[in-house]
This record gives sequence, C-alpha cells and structure tokens, in this order.
Amino acid sequence: MTNLPTQIQKCIILRNGSEIWIPAVKAEQLEQACISGERCFVKLKDAGDRTINTADIVEFLTAEQMNDRARLKAGEYKCSFGNWHDKKKICDCKNIAHKKYMELVCKKQEEKVMREKTSEERDSIKLTLDEMRQKLANKFGMKFKMAIKKKG
Ligand SMILES: [Zn+2]
Repeated sequence: MTNLPTQIQKCIILRNGSEIWIPAVKAEQLEQACISGERCFVKLKDAGDRTINTADIVEFLTAEQMNDRARLKAGEYKCSFGNWHDKKKICDCKNIAHKKYMELVCKKQEEKVMREKTSEERDSIKLTLDEMRQKLANKFGMKFKMAIKKKG
C-alpha cells in the first residue's frame, strides 16, 4: 500500500494520445496490475466513469514528467545541469557554474587575506583592487565609484 495523498494525480497516456488524470494511488494500483501482465477493461470512477482497455495504456506519468513532456514537445531540452533551454540556445550552465565557483573562491581568498593583514595593508589592497576594477570598468565604458579615497 502506498501512502500518497489522493490529491496527487498521475496521468495515464493511451495509445491514441488521450491523457487521463486520476489520483496517483489509483494510478499506481493500475500500474502494478499492468506490470504483472493483467490486461482487462477498467472503469475509471475518477475520470467520468470512463472505461478503458489497459492494453491501450502506453505510459503512467507524474505531473513533473508530464511537464517535461510538454516542454520537449515545445522544442526545449534539459541539459546535464537539469536546466531547460530553448532548442536554439546553447547551454552555458557549465561556464555559469564555473564563474560562480571562481567568484566564491576569490571572495574566500580575499576574506582570508583581509583577516591576516593590518588595517593599513587592507586599505592598500582595497585601493589596488579598486584601481583594477576601475581599469576594467573604463575598458567597458562603465562608471565606477572608488570605495577608498587615494591618500595625498
Ligand atoms: Zn544548461
């Protein structure tokens, strides 16, 4: 026996493309019967008393699997990072993940350095970092506000 709440639905896909949603608990009982090779007509009380031939069932899908199916039909694809992309777009998740990781490593490194230095050294490092960021900002034609004011 499964303990799934009845409000969770599963979709039965028939050979003719029909999609019938019934409570997951009942769908799974039917699924088990199909797996064990039972082939018969069943009346689905949760689907308007519709009677179907279980031999015509091609799939039992969860709501999530149905969603995936709809997206695949719409031309999207799921990359190895589990994100959906339009078929015309190339997945950039690897680079994004790598960039995030590098940013985290740099931040941790910066925090570590900052902890070990005196306040004067910290200011000097911040100034150097600010200057580097400003050069980068200039390169891309962006405005940049200095966090530390230059002495003298
Ligand atoms: Zn991706």
